Amino acid sequence: MPAKRMYLLDLGNLSGDKGWFLPGALGGAATRNNRNPARSWVDVPVPAALIEHKDGLVLFDAGTSPAAMTTRPKPTENFPLTKFTDENLLEKQLSVLGFKPEDVSYIVISHLHWDHVGQLPTFGNRKVPLILQKKELEWALYTIWQGKGVYYTLEDMRPLVGANWFPLDEKSFELMDGITLEWTGGHTPGHQIVKVTLGSGNTYILTGDYLHIPEEYELETKGWLLGDAEEWQVEIRKLKLQVMAQKAKLIISHDPGLWGKYPKAPKWLE
Ligand SMILES: [Zn+2]
Repeated sequence: MPAKRMYLLDLGNLSGDKGWFLPGALGGAATRNNRNPARSWVDVPVPAALIEHKDGLVLFDAGTSPAAMTTRPKPTENFPLTKFTDENLLEKQLSVLGFKPEDVSYIVISHLHWDHVGQLPTFGNRKVPLILQKKELEWALYTIWQGKGVYYTLEDMRPLVGANWFPLDEKSFELMDGITLEWTGGHTPGHQIVKVTLGSGNTYILTGDYLHIPEEYELETKGWLLGDAEEWQVEIRKLKLQVMAQKAKLIISHDPGLWGKYPKAPKWLE
């Protein structure tokens, strides 16, 4: 049995320079014929997904810390939160669906950046399985330990010491029937995406930050947030093939038009 339904949770908004998402002139860089282009500032959502499956409730990503603006000065200098109210608390989003944090059976993390793990403390010491790529955990700590963490923060990682980690070391892993985790790299070395097939037969791909905005997919390029170009370019063609051959629909993490394309919880996708 594939997954029953999937909810998209609204964990607020952040904003930033378009150059993070698109390179060169596309992102507003100066060029020979346009020495002083207007920079553009984009407001984007911070979503999470909750997948209801007969074998458990699976959460994908966990947004920013509610206190990020004061406690995460480095990432919020580039990406300030532009919307965050009590409605955007994970606990509140779950409660609207009739769930409590303790009902979540597994948490899948695309990568350990501050805007994807910030509300994990909601789960306290419950020891809910935390599934990510081994390479991601290693890279996050390596970066922080060298004092180079901007989007990986010690504040986000400290509460996760001794968590019930499940670090994967393979390209593809089927968590449950209809829920497959796939390593992509490209943005961070251990970045992974999730492919979800629902009972209706519809397939959705939660791209995490492998894709931040749809133009990256359309134009096959990425701005300052590109990590490894070769990894990224291999994956983009694979994604396009899945969209073509399997009619997969992409849920692009920071798509400014996300809530116009997909409903917010308590509505669901099927
Ligand atoms: Zn990221």
